Amino acid sequence: SLTIGIVGLPNVGKSTMFNALTRNNVLAENYPFATIEPNTGIVPLPDKRLPVLAKLVHTEKIIPATVTFVDIAGIVKGASEGEGLGNKFLANIREADAICEVVRAFEDDDIVHVNGKVNPADDIDTINTELILADLQTIENALPKLEKDLRGKKVEASYVEAVKLAKSILESGTTIDAAAQAGNIDKADIAELHLMTAKPFIYVFNVDDNELGNEELKQQLAASVAPAQAIFLNAQFEADLTELDEDDAREMLADAGLEESGLDQLARVGFDVLGLQTYLTAGEKEVRAWQIHQGWTAPQAAGVIHSDFERGFIKADIVSYDDFVAAEGSMVKIKEEGKLRQEGRDYVMQPGDIVEFKFNV
Ligand code: GDP
Repeated sequence: SLTIGIVGLPNVGKSTMFNALTRNNVLAENYPFATIEPNTGIVPLPDKRLPVLAKLVHTEKIIPATVTFVDIAGIVKGASEGEGLGNKFLANIREADAICEVVRAFEDDDIVHVNGKVNPADDIDTINTELILADLQTIENALPKLEKDLRGKKVEASYVEAVKLAKSILESGTTIDAAAQAGNIDKADIAELHLMTAKPFIYVFNVDDNELGNEELKQQLAASVAPAQAIFLNAQFEADLTELDEDDAREMLADAGLEESGLDQLARVGFDVLGLQTYLTAGEKEVRAWQIHQGWTAPQAAGVIHSDFERGFIKADIVSYDDFVAAEGSMVKIKEEGKLRQEGRDYVMQPGDIVEFKFNV
């Protein structure tokens, strides 16, 4: 499954946040695929629709989709020079599908900052520079062969051009993800290089808990990484939340003027930048969110439940979540009102689809 690698300088609150995340680890019984390694957190994708559906179809069993985080320790200045820890760090990042950078924005004189003072922009620069240098290395290693293949007409000139464009972007100190979001390069053109900075980035700013409602600060930090996604949380606050039962946690959030925990936000944003989406099934046995890739068709989506469903796909009976709730879960009413759609092989799954697949065995 796709993973999000958590990186950051030392003493920014990574472990505090990661420990809070893993306290939400999913129960293995519902996810047999999920062997949970110590540095892995597999957390439920928050979805307020699931309990609503469970009530309507009279089931207790709810199975959310999941988001997988991997704690990647050991970013140090000079990591790109590929020594010891640095090497391992880069290898771990290469395996992740998205990068979540935890950045310290909290002030605390008792906790030493590795660069001497709290400066989020500098910290991001330190990390991204290592990743950019490592990517440049990848390109410099690839280029001599590419030039040779170009002379031998074994590679498209347009590909070599794209690689050179990536090189100049990196040399200017910009990540490929940022350049792609600005429309300056198409990631697909250089996918073969597997560059680290071509992965989607999410920035998590660990802010003081009394700054969680400081919109001006948040806007300023968000602008510094835009158009990448920014999330604001306080790692210790998140850790405290995970100690509470649901009602107390909701109260603590409300007292802080928040609707959702930072970790829930992170899970949602992470799922989205990985290019994932869900569809729903709702029956007496269980209510479940199934994970698919954005843009998948109905047969591909069916295959997530069982490969037989994809092979023998006939059609999908689909009702939208909103229509299902409006009809209070009554299939009779849904049909009467013409809200049950029958979709075929080419149908592209939409968010909020509640599905029953029809298939041949
Ligand atoms: P890591 O090195 O990035 O994994 O950072 P840790 O999670 O170990 O945190 C380093 C230190 O900062 C620990 O003493 C934490 O208790 C403290 N810490 C973490 N988050 C916060 C925060 O939001 N505010 C304050 N004041 N201290 C924090």
